[in-house]
Amino acid sequence: MIFVIPMGEYLERTIIDEVEKILRKRFITTTEVVEPIEIPDGTYDVERGQYNAEVLLGRVAPAGDGDYKLCILPYDAYVEGLNFVFGLADVAGRRAMVALARLVHDEPQIFLARIRKEVVHEMGHLHMMGHCRDRKCVMWFSNSIYDTDRKMDMFCPICESKLYRIIGFEIREATIGDVTHIHAIEKVSFKMPWPVAAFVYFIRGYDKHVWVATKGGQVIGYLVFEVEAGGEVHIANIAVHPDYRGMGVGERLMRKLLNKYEGCEVYLEVRVSNRIAQRLYKKLGFEIERTCLNYYPDGEHAYIMRRRLLG
Ligand SMILES: [Zn+2]
Ligand SMILES: [Zn+2]
Repeated sequence: MIFVIPMGEYLERTIIDEVEKILRKRFITTTEVVEPIEIPDGTYDVERGQYNAEVLLGRVAPAGDGDYKLCILPYDAYVEGLNFVFGLADVAGRRAMVALARLVHDEPQIFLARIRKEVVHEMGHLHMMGHCRDRKCVMWFSNSIYDTDRKMDMFCPICESKLYRIIGFEIREATIGDVTHIHAIEKVSFKMPWPVAAFVYFIRGYDKHVWVATKGGQVIGYLVFEVEAGGEVHIANIAVHPDYRGMGVGERLMRKLLNKYEGCEVYLEVRVSNRIAQRLYKKLGFEIERTCLNYYPDGEHAYIMRRRLLG
């Protein structure tokens, strides 16, 4: 769990929401926003007009095992020897902070993007990640705001796989031993869940696959698909455990499949009412091809969505 701690006076809700959302997505973890805390006394340097980030962070109680703390300071901060810092991480204390003053921009979207990048960067440090030599990677060290603007709020592939090792996230082929866990997720996800036998069929079947996403060894989501005789890939089922939704788990499963079957057309059916899933598929390049009337046993229509090959 990552605790988000607003410091000092009122911080806009949009900022806090953005911080929570990006932390959940990047670190595949639950988050909790705690009540704002007062900025501890004796942390402000009157002459510099800045907060001493080290002293400030030292006054925040270390996070417990398996948890992390992220403080958001709406002002400017420094550490000895540097004119300013965008943020600071104390790995041993599992606590970090981000100072917002130098991230401000007239354009709210740019301001929020900068916050996302610095927040992910400091939390990356708390996950034992060092600086990266890829300018676009969120772990690139920002000497100035230009560095921040140039990098992404994402990890490069190397840093990402490092992070996945550290947080214990993995996508792999399912085995029969996973079926009860998969089915438990299926039951809480759908009105008309597949029977256990259907998953067994896809795990055992020729050119049929079930992939599971796991965190800390626990199944948190799955993707079921088959490669059809014509070479098309048909996605038959996808779901994520309720506790792990909004963290990009479904998207990671889908992206892995789309990468692996890059040269294939991929299609799926989705309930007309399932806007959240449709939004994700559109983001991944799927388009609605047609509507299948009364596709589901309860009479609801389905969209057939397809990712076409370019060119
Ligand atoms: Zn750094
Ligand atoms: Zn990197």
